[in-house]
Amino acid sequence: MSRVVRVAGSLRTVRDTLSRIRAQMAMRDAIGWSQFLADEYWEYRSQRDEKVCPICEANDLDHLFIGDEISTKFPSNTYREKPKEVHPQVHIDNPWLKGECRCSLFWMNFPEILYDRLHEELLRETLG
Ligand SMILES: [Zn+2]
Ligand SMILES: [Zn+2]
Repeated sequence: MSRVVRVAGSLRTVRDTLSRIRAQMAMRDAIGWSQFLADEYWEYRSQRDEKVCPICEANDLDHLFIGDEISTKFPSNTYREKPKEVHPQVHIDNPWLKGECRCSLFWMNFPEILYDRLHEELLRETLG
């Protein structure tokens, strides 16, 4: 789906709107986006071998998590290899589990959801 932002009005209005859009984009460039929000879909994947524990296996069966569930369901998810992949560290959250959790969570609607968020922000800027 294409995302369009229309800018119309007097020359002065157009100039002001474009400069608000530029400022908004510069702000996002500088600070980026929050992660683990309700519009994100994350897929849980265990290694699916004989060493996977029952808790990790159950998460794999549940499979899809919404971004804002992740910090409560996997509070030790801090280890991050890439922006769209985190390691849920299920075994740190459940200390009676032996060995290391080798599971990953993959951000499925990345980067599309960031385009959606930016589009919404830029639409707001055009409203003045
Ligand atoms: Zn496990
Ligand atoms: Zn695991």
